[in-house]
Formats: sequence, C-alpha cells, structure tokens
Amino acid sequence: MCGVIGILGSYPLRMSRELLLLLAHRGQDAAGLLWIEGDRAIDGKSIGSPSLIRLPDTSSNQILGSTRYPTSGKRVASEEDLNTFVGPFKVNAITLTHNGNITNMASVSEKQFDCDGEFLAERLSFHLENNSGDLPEAFRKLEAEVDGSYSLAGFYNGLLFAYRDSHGFKPLVFGRSSERTIVASESTVLDMGGVPLERDVYPGELLVFGNGGKMESYSISQNANHSHCFFEYVYFAHPAATIENQLVYDVRFRLGRALAQTFKKLHLDKPDYVVPVPDTSRPAAQAMAETLDVPIREIILKNRYLGRTFIVRTQEERDAMARSKYIYLDGKIRGKNILVVDDSIVRGTTAKMIVADLRKRGAAKVYFAVTCPPQAHPCYYGIDISTDRELIASTSSVNSIAEYIETDALIYQEEHTLENSIGIKDLCLACLDGDYPTEHARSIRKGIQQQGSKPNERDYERDFSQ
Ligand code: AMP
Repeated sequence: MCGVIGILGSYPLRMSRELLLLLAHRGQDAAGLLWIEGDRAIDGKSIGSPSLIRLPDTSSNQILGSTRYPTSGKRVASEEDLNTFVGPFKVNAITLTHNGNITNMASVSEKQFDCDGEFLAERLSFHLENNSGDLPEAFRKLEAEVDGSYSLAGFYNGLLFAYRDSHGFKPLVFGRSSERTIVASESTVLDMGGVPLERDVYPGELLVFGNGGKMESYSISQNANHSHCFFEYVYFAHPAATIENQLVYDVRFRLGRALAQTFKKLHLDKPDYVVPVPDTSRPAAQAMAETLDVPIREIILKNRYLGRTFIVRTQEERDAMARSKYIYLDGKIRGKNILVVDDSIVRGTTAKMIVADLRKRGAAKVYFAVTCPPQAHPCYYGIDISTDRELIASTSSVNSIAEYIETDALIYQEEHTLENSIGIKDLCLACLDGDYPTEHARSIRKGIQQQGSKPNERDYERDFSQ
C-alpha cells in the first residue's frame, strides 16, 4: 500500500504537498514529489510525513507524488535511502510513481533492484526503447512480464499517463477540469484539487492525458476476473474515499451492521458500551451500536503523536509501542460490559493488550469484534503481512485466538458478509482463503508451504518459479 498522485496543468507545488497529505494514511514511511521545470525533473523527498518535504514557492505543469509504505526494500532511515527507495522515479524519458507490489522482479530482470517502483520505471523505459517509443505497446510488454499489483501515474513526453494492472488490485481514480487533470489513489485528492471524480481507471486500461483535458484510453490487457483488494475497504483507504463506486464509509458501516447480527446470535450479556479502536473501526462501531441499541463511547483514545506500531521489527518493540498507542478514559470502564470493535487482528498484539488494559481498569466483560475475517495467509500484493509467522490466524483457530487475547467472546466478520458489505464481486481474498489470483504468487505460496519461510525475509523476496 502506498499513495500516488499525478497532476497535469499548472498547480502550486506547496498545494500539491497538501494533496499528498490526504494520502499520508497510505504510507507513513516516507514521501516524495517530483515536478518538471523547463526540461528538468526535480524532486523533493522526506522521511515520514509529506509535510516535511521542502519546496520552492512555485507552480509546475507536471507533478507526481508518492507516499511510501514499505513492502519492497527496507524502511527509510537516511538521505541515501530516500533516493533508493522513495518515488517518484525517473528513468530516461519516464517519470513514474507506483502503488502496489511486484513479486517477480528477480525472474524478469538480471539486474537487481532495490525497490519495485524503480524496477517498473526501468522496464517501461526499456520497452519504450524497443518499441519505437510506443507507450501502449510498452505497457503490453510490461503487463506480460510482471506479476503482482501496480497502479501507476507518470509522465512521458509531457503527457500524463495512468495505468492499473489487469487485476485492479489497488485503487486508481481520475478527474478532469478545463485547468487540470488529476490521477490519484483516492478520490479525496481530486475533490481538494478542484476536479470532479470522473471514474476509476479500469483494470488493464492505460489512460493518456494531454492538455485541456484531452484523454485517450487503450485496452492493454483483458482479464475477465478482477481482484480488487478487499482490505482497502476494511483498513487502508480513507472513509471519505469512493472506490469502484463504493463509499468506503458506507462499506465500513455495513460491515458493522453485519457483525452486530452475528453478535445477536450469540445471546451474550448485553454490552453497556460499544467502543471503537480508533480510527478505522469508527463507522463499524457506530453501526453496531445502532443495530444493538447500545450507546457508543470512545473510551479508547489514540495517542496521535506516536509513530507506527505495525512496522517495527521485534515483538518487544511492538509490545512497548502498542502499550503507549492508546489512552483510556479510566472512569468509564469499571463494572461495564464492553464490546470493542477493531478492523483486524494480525499478530494479536493490539487485541490482547486492549483486552488486558480494559480488565485491569475493572471491565466486567470484554467482547472483541473484528470487521475483517481471520487473515490466515500472507499477502504478496502490498500489505506488509508477507509471512505466516506474522499472522496468528495462520496457525490458530478462532477459539485459540480468543483464548490468547483473553476475551469473553471473539466475533469475526464472515467471508460472505464481508463480500455483501463491500457490494462488489471481484475481490482479492487471498489473505483469507489462500486463493492467489496470479501465477507467480501461487508458486511462492507453494514453495513456502514445501520449504518454509526464512527468518527476516519476506516470502515474495524468494524466487520459486524455476
Ligand atoms: P496486530 O496488533 O498485529 O494484531 O495488528 C492489528 C492492528 O494493526 C489493528 O488495530 C489494525 O488496525 C492494524 N493494522 C492491520 N493491518 C495493518 C497494516 N497492514 N499496516 C498497519 N496497521 C495495520
């Protein structure tokens, strides 16, 4: 998961940084902007938030932006890392920003790449050179050789292009006005950038935009079965984003309503409060409270100034950070039956800690509801859960997870209510059911099941395709 932006048409650089901030939730590791000044491509990058990118007080006609979530390469710690791992990337006449995860870099190219954004820019440039500069043809060659997810925005010869892989894993939308065209991972960027949302880029579709809102669409690859990442709706995307014509807030609300129905069937003691784990699960908690006719109380508050707990490496670090991530409204907990709602359980660290913290503060009962079904398989397409060892549900049953987190009842979303709540059919559910939609990912999964993972290595960093 990362965030991408492409703007064609004069726009102030400092305002484009504001647009990028709307995608900060998609990647908090680092951020970058690249713009064209005359015939030069210039970039500005920062570790952490886009707000730290230093920019001149000027405008540009061609701007690309990227927020980075590291699923390929390491976390950014230095200026040198910024240049190596953080987009947008420039290779010859191609500039490009990328959201997704390529799983077969090693089998496509002998050259070693530090990250997949740079790899994509190189391959595209290579195919352009070998196909007389024909962009659609270069994309056909690229689509035929790479495996994984990729939603791209970039510039070639002054034209803005947008491409979404033929599975449509990651979101990509665009909008146009007479002044500018904007391509972005999420529709909120278009709204703030002053252009109406036109539509999603279709899976396998290349769009090429010229000045004055001119647009050409090329069908690069036809794939009858699309595989939109369901976790975008559950966790990644902003609730105000519209993806595939679905408002993410509404999806999360429906997820909560479905969970409430499951909760009712268990005939447990009535909760005194429904409590969201901030921020993602708020719409679901509202729906649960409404459906169960129980008040919602925000007694778990987020420490906004803490960094990311998910991507730290050791369990000790993770536990320490998880402990300081939440602040509790102490006086509201003693003697109460509390129904906690979170979007997902990955390793179980957060859920276990919250249940223990509520009990320590005198909660009578703590139920734990999760808007996502158990994630029992690694993701190779852009969520940083790339090995079984990171997933408690890969080795433990729901009952064992409930015992581990010490809850009075653990209520997971079911797969069919997840699909119904999202409201579209063509979803990638690989981390739930192990059914990987691409060939190379299937070969990685098979290889891992036969040979096991290696410590300190993501599964997709190994090549089992030979
Ligand atoms: P864990 O504590 O390992 O079980 O992780 C679950 C918590 O991490 C939940 O509160 C989620 O909101 C959050 N989460 C789930 N997936 C991700 C992800 N890919 N990146 C960052 N945070 C995540």
